[in-house]
Amino acid sequence: MKKFSITSKGDEKSNKLKEDIKSYLLEFNLVYDKEEPDLVISVGGDGTFLEAFHTYIHRLDKTAFIGIHTGHLGFYADWVPKEMEKLIIEIAKNPFQVVEYPLLEVKIFPEEGKQVDRFLALNECSVKTADGSVVLDLLIKGEHFERFRGDGLCISTPSGSTAYNKALGGAIIHPSLESIQIAEMASINNRVFRTIGSPLILPKHHKCELKPIHDDRSFLITIDHITKTYTNVKTIECSVANEKIRFARFRSFPFWKRVHDSFVADER
Ligand code: NAD
Repeated sequence: MKKFSITSKGDEKSNKLKEDIKSYLLEFNLVYDKEEPDLVISVGGDGTFLEAFHTYIHRLDKTAFIGIHTGHLGFYADWVPKEMEKLIIEIAKNPFQVVEYPLLEVKIFPEEGKQVDRFLALNECSVKTADGSVVLDLLIKGEHFERFRGDGLCISTPSGSTAYNKALGGAIIHPSLESIQIAEMASINNRVFRTIGSPLILPKHHKCELKPIHDDRSFLITIDHITKTYTNVKTIECSVANEKIRFARFRSFPFWKRVHDSFVADER
């Protein structure tokens, strides 16, 4: 028996669609279970999907996700409302295949002796400050790589590479490549300060560490759509997570087709 939950963006169109899907799936004898769903259906946009991911982050190995968009085509929300009938029948009648995408693990080490915070991101972690420039040492695999000065850094997953990372000139990475990407935000480059200036792509098991020079400064650290303020940060460590997100796959919509339809032209 499949247990499902539905999250909605909260606008009228998404709420109506949520109620319709819910009543159809209940008619097919599926069970609505907000606490322990096998399948989470997100109705809205990519932002709604990110919220759903963070709501069920504690049971990623037991939950598969699917996204329906009620606005424009999303990367995670890639079903359209007019496909609903087909989707409901598929969910009700057929076992779903699962496609897994890599996630980013972020560990924030505060002052010595204080608790380490650990987060998972589906899109990215960005490190910025409202307090002048971000100045930090970037270490890769434990070796000093560069001293970064600028607006900040964005460390993204492959599926997040089409989001903030893309706006920063990062490459689009296929989610079958277990990797993370570091993209700069307006680095200061002159005769005194120097950074690589190109996005860097790290494979699994190559972690990077961001070590702020002024640890009394306050940092704005985002994990997807969530922003946190930290002071006294010693190290922010990023790597490919062991956990993955699982998507319920009912039809083929290849990643490069999604990239094409979102950024080049939607011919559907
Ligand atoms: P939002 O409502 O401002 O959404 C930003 C846009 O990002 C939306 O159009 C959404 O569809 C798109 N998006 C989200 N994930 C995507 C993905 N994986 N690939 C392609 N597009 C994607 O903000 P929100 O809903 O709170 O979403 C937070 C996300 O916004 C962050 O994870 C970050 O990636 C993105 N963002 C982008 C920029 C930028 O492009 N300059 C700046 C800040 C944040």
